[in-house]
Amino acid sequence: MSENLPVPASLSLAGHEISPIAWGMWRFAGADVATARARVEAAFEAGVTLFDTADIYGCDTPGGFGSAEALLGEVFAEAPQLRDRMVLATKGGIILGVPYDSSAAYLASAIDISLRRLRTGRVELWQIHRPDLLTHPQEIARALEDAHRAGKIGAIGVSNFTPSQAAALARFLPVPLVSHQSEFSPLHLDPLFDGILDQSMERGMGFLAWSPLGGGRLGDPADERTRAVAALLDAKAGEYGVSRAAATFSWVMAHPARPIPIVGTQNVARIREIPQALAPRWTRAEWYAVLQTSMGEKLP
Ligand code: NAP
Repeated sequence: MSENLPVPASLSLAGHEISPIAWGMWRFAGADVATARARVEAAFEAGVTLFDTADIYGCDTPGGFGSAEALLGEVFAEAPQLRDRMVLATKGGIILGVPYDSSAAYLASAIDISLRRLRTGRVELWQIHRPDLLTHPQEIARALEDAHRAGKIGAIGVSNFTPSQAAALARFLPVPLVSHQSEFSPLHLDPLFDGILDQSMERGMGFLAWSPLGGGRLGDPADERTRAVAALLDAKAGEYGVSRAAATFSWVMAHPARPIPIVGTQNVARIREIPQALAPRWTRAEWYAVLQTSMGEKLP
């Protein structure tokens, strides 16, 4: 069979219809407000409605912890209509040097401070950034249930969790756990094999794919394996007259869990190219060829 694998036009997450591609703000802090606003507006013009940030983003810039959220808050102060149109996701639970805290007291305070920085009363999706091995999931669930009941967080997701960590949390939550967020790209294949994508389908959870270009490595291949994967992506890109990045995002989206690539570019011209990713279609053999080239071995 050589029919093409389907790609969705839109998806549902946390009770909202969303774009099948998200835009992320890991690399957002440090820009001035006009530049930041231009990026957000370019993402909207490219059809993006799901935006992903985190309290820790910006910790590697002079603004420090919280500065990516604060910059987005400044954009909202200048242009409140952008907030109204956005399905906004943020995360918390990482503290530099600790490194994780999901205790009830910490989460309650982290959520309040994030909302203040973002100058918003609520986020549509709040995600635990990384699993804290020292907090019982029942305690985490209690804190998140309180924030949900208070209307501060519309829905709850997890990031960098194993399937069993997610199941343990879901066991104590009175509301559904709506999403996973894990690294996934043609260079980082773990979710295909560690049960995360299976669990996303089993439970009807959204799956957000972070670093879908391998953190930029696919934009500028530096080793033989990456060059071999890029050559297959380029062949698909050439067939549809789109960029390699677009072909890469389409490969990610072709999985039946409907992964949502979180595009990380901060370059407005590249943000404008996001819709190109909706064009390419992969046959099974082509999709598996990218997988096997990245694995460096044939599947049995
Ligand atoms: P990515 O899309 O894999 O990489 C983006 C990087 O690649 C940028 O530095 C970008 O530079 C560069 N790039 C993009 N297109 C390129 C091209 N055609 N040629 C060369 N370089 C290119 O994504 P990411 O930024 O690593 O991550 C995306 C989002 O995932 C983040 O913003 C964040 O929301 C999320 N994330 C989550 C976690 C987590 O633990 N949950 C961890 C990491 C990231 P330019 O800006 O110059 O284009």
